Amino acid sequence: MGDSYRRKTCRLCDSADLELVVPLTPCGLPDAYLPLHRLQERQGVYPLDLYLCRGCGHVQMLDIVDPAILFSGEYRYLTGSTPAVVRHFEEYADRVIARVRPAHGSWAIDVGSNDGTLLGFFKARGHRVLGIDAAKEVAAQATAAGIETIPEFLTPQLAERVRREYGPAAVVTCNNAFAHADDLAGMADCIRDLLAEDGVFVFEVSYVLDIVDKMLLGTIFHEHLSHHSVKPMVLFLRRHGMELIDVHRVSLQGGSFIGTAQLASGRRPVDASVGAALALEAERRLDRPEVYREFSARLEQAKAALLRILEDLKGEGKKIAGFGAARGGTTMLFHFELNRFLEFIVDDNPAKQNTFSPVHHIPVLPTRALFDRRPDYVFILAWVHARPIIEKYSAFRTQGGRFIVPLPQPEVV
Ligand SMILES: [Zn+2]
Repeated sequence: MGDSYRRKTCRLCDSADLELVVPLTPCGLPDAYLPLHRLQERQGVYPLDLYLCRGCGHVQMLDIVDPAILFSGEYRYLTGSTPAVVRHFEEYADRVIARVRPAHGSWAIDVGSNDGTLLGFFKARGHRVLGIDAAKEVAAQATAAGIETIPEFLTPQLAERVRREYGPAAVVTCNNAFAHADDLAGMADCIRDLLAEDGVFVFEVSYVLDIVDKMLLGTIFHEHLSHHSVKPMVLFLRRHGMELIDVHRVSLQGGSFIGTAQLASGRRPVDASVGAALALEAERRLDRPEVYREFSARLEQAKAALLRILEDLKGEGKKIAGFGAARGGTTMLFHFELNRFLEFIVDDNPAKQNTFSPVHHIPVLPTRALFDRRPDYVFILAWVHARPIIEKYSAFRTQGGRFIVPLPQPEVV
């Protein structure tokens, strides 16, 4: 296709021994909701299949969409726009500071710093801060708001320049960017080169154990090239001159873990949380293909049950809408073939309203359409938030409407 390519080796250990474990329907780009005037644009679908590396146990996508296409959408997510994420980053900064005790006034650098939300908390606690984010407009906004942000990708040249001009960092954080990058090896080397002798690298990544246990299909989309676990990360960091010293699980946004690493020569003791995570992963056999094949089978069972429900409703002439035009819903629209059933999608977010879903062009309307257009059923695409959505829109049920919650098991409420 030209706008995507497939890598042949594991992103973490370079092994070519890769096994397809979760086949998924090729899917439109997650955020490619188009306004009316762009509807004639060609929109492609791209593979979402997950592979397991039999060398190190890392679960990953091998098909990579050209970032210039993937991040070309009109909609740009800002960390500071979600209060729960802001609170999370405050706790994150406090936890790093309590755990690592970086010197007052030492440098905290965030790679993929977005609007500078995380760095703002380090700054408020007495650190000098520097953001690195290639999204130029967002970087400029962050700089204007007092968080100096270099509008570039992290390269060896930039790492060298930052170290020379600013000095070594006590803390380097890298969160989403670490899940989104294809060249993690290059990124890890750059980050290591930014660190002071007693500096730490802190990263938050989605945890594949949560995806499997909680059926988090919505976490699987084209930006998320890697679905991490602790064991492959220990080996990977070691290969890049670092040592994992702490693991902390977080339940926000489905499930992730925050890892803290020091240089291989570092003097901090390894926390018991690392051994505990490795023991849990060994017990769950997280490096074996069976775990993921079983996840895939549960997904297919859910799909079959949902298609039965939706076919029956359609046969009865019921009107069905979707709820939630977020990135994770796109995977579901494609894999569960929902375009055959949904007349429209509603979303609270004004930026998504009056757009059209990727490839299928299902219209996205404000949530009042639940009451103006009165669908009989609403399929909750953003199902991890099903409970608050159902509570908030209890009037929809009062008028006779029903919600369909697709996962972890299909349910009509
Ligand atoms: Zn590997």
